[in-house]
Amino acid sequence: MALIVQKYGGTSMGSPERIREVARRIAHYHQQGHKLIVVPSAMSGETNRLIGLAKELNPEPDGRELDVIASTGEQVSVGLLALALHKLGLKAKSYTGWQVKIQTDSAFTKARIMAIDDANIRRDLNEGFIVVVAGFQGIDENGNITTLGRGGSDTTGVALAAALKADECQIFTDVDGVYTTDPRVVPEARKLEKITFEEMFELASLGSKVLQIRSVEFAGKYKVKLRVLSSFTEFDSNDMGTLITYEEEESMEQAIISGIAFTRDEAKLTVTGVPDRPGIAYAILGPIAEANIDVDVIIQNTSVDGLTDFSFTVHRNDFNKALAILNDKVKPAVSARDVRGDNKSAKVSIVGIGMRSHAGVAAKMFECLARENVNIQMIATSEIKTSVVVDEKYMELAVRALHQAFELDKLPA
Ligand code: ASP
Ligand code: MG
Repeated sequence: MALIVQKYGGTSMGSPERIREVARRIAHYHQQGHKLIVVPSAMSGETNRLIGLAKELNPEPDGRELDVIASTGEQVSVGLLALALHKLGLKAKSYTGWQVKIQTDSAFTKARIMAIDDANIRRDLNEGFIVVVAGFQGIDENGNITTLGRGGSDTTGVALAAALKADECQIFTDVDGVYTTDPRVVPEARKLEKITFEEMFELASLGSKVLQIRSVEFAGKYKVKLRVLSSFTEFDSNDMGTLITYEEEESMEQAIISGIAFTRDEAKLTVTGVPDRPGIAYAILGPIAEANIDVDVIIQNTSVDGLTDFSFTVHRNDFNKALAILNDKVKPAVSARDVRGDNKSAKVSIVGIGMRSHAGVAAKMFECLARENVNIQMIATSEIKTSVVVDEKYMELAVRALHQAFELDKLPA
């Protein structure tokens, strides 16, 4: 008998019939003798609908009020799911985040979980209840309702698993695991049986949408055994989805590259003809940071005649704001020649712990892109990833070519 946290995403909860299906699946695990904490998301489309309503009344909604509204989707879900479980003759009880309570900081719309009071949940589990906890929400120290950022139910699931020392946290979704890349772009993409936490973390932060990045971060910190699997398979299917592991040796698949992530959300900015002297990077990026804009890839060339160019990328939503800061503040301050930018870039990244021990992986990536005539605009590397920024027109071509070049469709030898 194990203690399992199961998170069900919006698609899994998409309709009364789907919720009935989820209830049957939970009953199946319950019959096997497991203790269960279940974390549903809002029904698919519901959070968008709620945020849309809010913005219709006020295009720049206050964060506190937005969270009051957005959190209701999950409140409906826990009630409905508990009712569906009752109908199957099971003992189940629902909780909102503040009833549990899940304590967060006060960063509305992107709050972080600080602590979880597990008293109610433990008591109910001991009394034989299936405990249904609303994902995505919590309460701050002043009693305000907060939400954890889009996709935040994953984080609720993982945080509960950590707090209650669950044997496993199962993320049920509409795909049956973590793939080498998005199968919608590369039909030959292969499902991974296992992936290391580090790789999953990179993939999540580089654009793979399977798990919310914060949930992966949380899982790593507390070594939560995390599994991604489908809520659309047969209950007794042998398909165990993808397990996120913490030991490299545990990973049987010894591929050099595990996956390819991509994102279209990049915008590129360049300040040309800046003097090559101490303090320049700070003079350019300081004002950007002050405006709360996250900077991703950064490159600065060595100087010719004392002048150099400085480029970086930001999220596409921040492009206009960043461009204005560079033109209005930075350009005069560092007497730059020019400011340029475009918001038509994409980032493609290859990820794998095998890169630590194998030379020439990046070269192979560049060779592949050269063959396809894809121009590389920027390059960034870390121990287990290499990213390139390319024109978004060529993003899918690059992903497909790299998937083939690294033979990700085949099981590693
Ligand atoms: N319902 C929230 C969202 O759509 C949280 C989640 O689904 O994880 O972002
Ligand atoms: Mg979701």
